[in-house]
Amino acid sequence: MEPKEQIRNAIDVVDLVGEYLQLKKAGQGSFKALCPFHGEKTPSFYVHRSKQIWHCFGCDKGGDIFTFIMDMEGVEFPEALRMLAKKAGVELPQYERRDASRTDHLKAINAFAQKVYERYLQTAQGKGARAYLEGRGITEELQMRFGLGYAPDAWTALIDAARQKGISEADWQAAGLALPSKRGNRIDRFRHRLMIPLRDHHGDTVGFTGRVLRKDDTPKYMNSPQTDIYDKSALVYGLDIAKAAIKSAGEVILVEGNLDVIASHKADVKNVVAISGTALTERHIQMLKRYTTRFVFCFDADDAGFNAAMRGMHLSRGLGMDVRVVAIPSGAGKDPDEIVQKDPQAWRALVEAHADQMTYLFNRLVAPIDRKDVTTKKRAGAVFLEELAASKDTIEREHWLKRLSEALDVPLQELRKSLGSGPDNGQRKGNAIQQTPQKHQSLEDIFLAHSINDTNAFALAASRIAPSNLSEPLAHALYTLALSLYHDANTSNESFFEAVRQEASKHSQELSGYFARCAILLDLENSPPNANDDTRFSQILTRLEDRVRNSKRQDILFALREAERVGDMAQVEALTRQYQSML
Ligand SMILES: [Zn+2]
Repeated sequence: MEPKEQIRNAIDVVDLVGEYLQLKKAGQGSFKALCPFHGEKTPSFYVHRSKQIWHCFGCDKGGDIFTFIMDMEGVEFPEALRMLAKKAGVELPQYERRDASRTDHLKAINAFAQKVYERYLQTAQGKGARAYLEGRGITEELQMRFGLGYAPDAWTALIDAARQKGISEADWQAAGLALPSKRGNRIDRFRHRLMIPLRDHHGDTVGFTGRVLRKDDTPKYMNSPQTDIYDKSALVYGLDIAKAAIKSAGEVILVEGNLDVIASHKADVKNVVAISGTALTERHIQMLKRYTTRFVFCFDADDAGFNAAMRGMHLSRGLGMDVRVVAIPSGAGKDPDEIVQKDPQAWRALVEAHADQMTYLFNRLVAPIDRKDVTTKKRAGAVFLEELAASKDTIEREHWLKRLSEALDVPLQELRKSLGSGPDNGQRKGNAIQQTPQKHQSLEDIFLAHSINDTNAFALAASRIAPSNLSEPLAHALYTLALSLYHDANTSNESFFEAVRQEASKHSQELSGYFARCAILLDLENSPPNANDDTRFSQILTRLEDRVRNSKRQDILFALREAERVGDMAQVEALTRQYQSML
């Protein structure tokens, strides 16, 4: 069996999709979810267990486990194959691994470095780092969970270890772990620092954050540089560990520092991640959105913290996220780490008491201002209205406009004018995901939906409908392919559906997606197979035949008119006879 088929047998599409999306039961063996590929409020994304396919009726994406990973992870087929092979424990032949070998190698180097750092933490040299961790109450269990380590106070300790392991200095540098020195050789990038591995959402180490242990060392936090495997604008710290907790909590808490994430675990709040060394980007949001659409922003209540968080909140809201806010009150501690240090219960309570973004903004910006201070009123009003404009919810907009009108003592009409004319204002600004209209189901789609799911139906189809009767390219291609499999002696009734699926997936990603769409179409209508289905299918066949006959008649009529125009009476007579025979 081909590796691709082995992998397909080992991984259930429902389980796989369930790792990314919140699935709800939608019927016999089928589940639905909000589509991750287009903005929507009611689910049109379906995944089916016995058919092993997924399809979104909103944006028309669909296919099998491979296409799902390709779309979800934004990777090409070889990478999707490699990822799923690893998951399924299937060994790939060398040639299929080639594409990924470079990133694998760099990841292996970072994994090796992590092991070395972990070992150094337990040595006499790691004493200071251990004392630091102890002082912050980070237990050995937590140290292991997050893979913490220590970079020794030496120039080439790690490079030497790498050399012994057979890793070249050039590769070590490409992995972000070495720096060129003034003397022309290479030195360790991280020296005398507490090492926090940066892991991607699969749990592979792709870089490090090193925290100073000596007071006057700078910078306080040093990150790995951008490498082929580490991109700070895409990496969400702690996600590998937080995934399950995020899904069960239905929300993710975003904090500022990696150590805040670790501290939060001490308080048993585990749905926490950090965006470190950069502002929140659209790629971070897309990554997190796989697990939840509710983002709880946690930041210092001071102006710097607030302003930084505002940008992230604005971006998230524009991408359709449900944005919540936890502002750390002054006196509680400067960051989650400090709060947990003082009182873990206080952190849990703070996180649970999150407010929605507009309520928070109103209380912070609008409520405290003096109505007579025109300048402040204007500024606060403008910031608040800008955020409100991103809301597509009319009720929410009206609610806040009224509150704002009362608070600022400005007529409602004026505020509405400055907000824009209608609820679609936010969309026109281009900061909202476009809602994709539902694709119309054509007669040919429904014809294929009936016939590929049931060999009896297909037998009937094969006897009445020729591929040329189908005018849509994908329908034509799928039907042609299915017909040849149907006539193939090696295909049994039981294996027909599976055979069509495999052929479609070999043919192209597009056809594989179209197959999934047809395979799942009837489940959507929630109609279990019954006697009426036969009648219905028969009607579909008749309509297809009628359509063919009609178009032939149109052709004849056209030719007839042409023959009359040029005065070819013999031709007119022949065509007339032909036309009448078709009535
Ligand atoms: Zn979709």
